[in-house]
Amino acid sequence: MAAAMGLVSCRGFGPWKSFCFRSVCVGSLGWRGGPVRSRSSEAVYDVVVSGGGMVGSAMAVALGNDAHLRGKKILLLEAGPKKLTKQLPKSYSNRVSAITPGSATLLNSFGAWDHIRSMRIKPFRRMQVWDACSEAMIIFDKDNLEDMGYIVENDVIMSALTKQLDAMSDQVEVFYRSRALGYTWPLPYQTCDASPWVEIDLADGRKLQTKLLIGADGQNSMVRKAAGIQNIQYQYDQSAVVATLHLSEATDNNVAWQRFLPSGPIALLPLSDTVSSLVWSTSHEHASQLQSMDEESFVDSINSAFWSNANHSDFIDTAGTVFRSALSLLMPAGSAARQLPPSVAKVDPKSRAVFPLGLGHATEYVQHRVALIGDAAHRVHPLAGQGVNMGFGDIACLMHHLSAAAFNGKDLGSLNHLLKYEQEQQRHNLSMMAAVDLLQRLYSTSAAPLVLLRTWGLQATNAATPVKEQIMAFASK
Ligand SMILES: Cc1cc2nc3c(=O)[nH]c(=O)nc-3n(C[C@H](O)[C@H](O)[C@H](O)COP(=O)(O)OP(=O)(O)OC[C@H]3O[C@@H](n4cnc5c(N)ncnc54)[C@H](O)[C@@H]3O)c2cc1C
Repeated sequence: MAAAMGLVSCRGFGPWKSFCFRSVCVGSLGWRGGPVRSRSSEAVYDVVVSGGGMVGSAMAVALGNDAHLRGKKILLLEAGPKKLTKQLPKSYSNRVSAITPGSATLLNSFGAWDHIRSMRIKPFRRMQVWDACSEAMIIFDKDNLEDMGYIVENDVIMSALTKQLDAMSDQVEVFYRSRALGYTWPLPYQTCDASPWVEIDLADGRKLQTKLLIGADGQNSMVRKAAGIQNIQYQYDQSAVVATLHLSEATDNNVAWQRFLPSGPIALLPLSDTVSSLVWSTSHEHASQLQSMDEESFVDSINSAFWSNANHSDFIDTAGTVFRSALSLLMPAGSAARQLPPSVAKVDPKSRAVFPLGLGHATEYVQHRVALIGDAAHRVHPLAGQGVNMGFGDIACLMHHLSAAAFNGKDLGSLNHLLKYEQEQQRHNLSMMAAVDLLQRLYSTSAAPLVLLRTWGLQATNAATPVKEQIMAFASK
């Protein structure tokens, strides 16, 4: 399926394929055929992570925490400033992430989860997803009152990772406000003047070398571009409006709500008993209207998006009711009760922001001495809250292989184990991306046949507990 989508690599020429042209034209810096340079003053690192967002910072902490990598020279490069929140602001940030239990386990494995818990976090126990064009809905919850996931501000995650990096400064160096300007790749064959390592030029004129470069520099990754790795991408005709919202009354607020409108999904994610975060994906035009309208109209628009039945039709409602009744006879235990979403009273001033949405996938995650992780490798629609979770999944997988390579005394930049990372993660990430993209498309229409199809599909899935459990297990990795 992935190959058919054109989203994965065709390594017909083997790993040297890329070197055939990059040995002449390298990154944004030119080529290696020039005069011999003295590199004696350039620091040589075992691993450099380029990009210190949530994924790159977590990768650096994981590397610094691994017993088999003790003594290795590890560096994190980040173009922006250090992000350490000493005193949490009273108001919530408008940038939040739904974090899966799998990601929480990873963050816990190197001590960042305790910091997150001590700052601010909201677990949720249930997810209700429903269609604005019919009565169809699906409820995910756990019988044993386990947490289904956590809503955490991105600033809180960054602050926790920065604290961990500060605590391991003897294992991991961090250069803040240090932008990588270009990369020079090693030749496939050794010559007396060529460095066998990746060379990195920084904006401040410094030069570094590394045996393994990990590109965690986001959706416009310079590492990916400089390595000549193709990125299959397209823009959704949608932007996401985010905002911090105050509810009309205090509740347990432990449900993540998402309603699929024909213009795109709207989600309300709990932050406290009275505060929730909005992620509303809609047309660019509607998004800019939502951003600029007065606060009262904005709140009215949100409440109406969750409550209005203007998109229902009698035909679909009747067909859905008949199907649901038949299902409840076949699978009586399978249907959970619908809950009503809370109503919104107020929006935090200045919390509204808009982000254009797109899909992107690197056809290769690795090359000799290079690996891509996080948004540098894949970008998804936020409707399933998977972007950073997929990045954390990359870290768990790559760390597994790097740790084993270090234990066995292998070259960390070798394609042998980097390819294993690529195979495992591409398989998982592509299935997730295909599912998210399909959902996005399926729900972006109010055409009756498709609405009927998805209504029955959602009702059947909701009634089939084992299917729901499999979906939850896959999405919570
Ligand atoms: C509205 C919205 C809601 C979302 N909600 C969720 C959610 O609920 N759950 C979820 O899992 N995901 C969610 N996501 C996705 C998630 O935010 C991203 O997947 C995640 O932030 C990507 O992290 P990253 O570290 O890979 O990249 P980035 O956050 O883009 O970080 C890249 C870093 O690299 C640095 N950098 C770039 N170039 C250079 C260079 N040349 N030299 C040095 N440093 C460089 C940048 O300064 C930056 O700090 C959402 C996204 C959006 C837009």
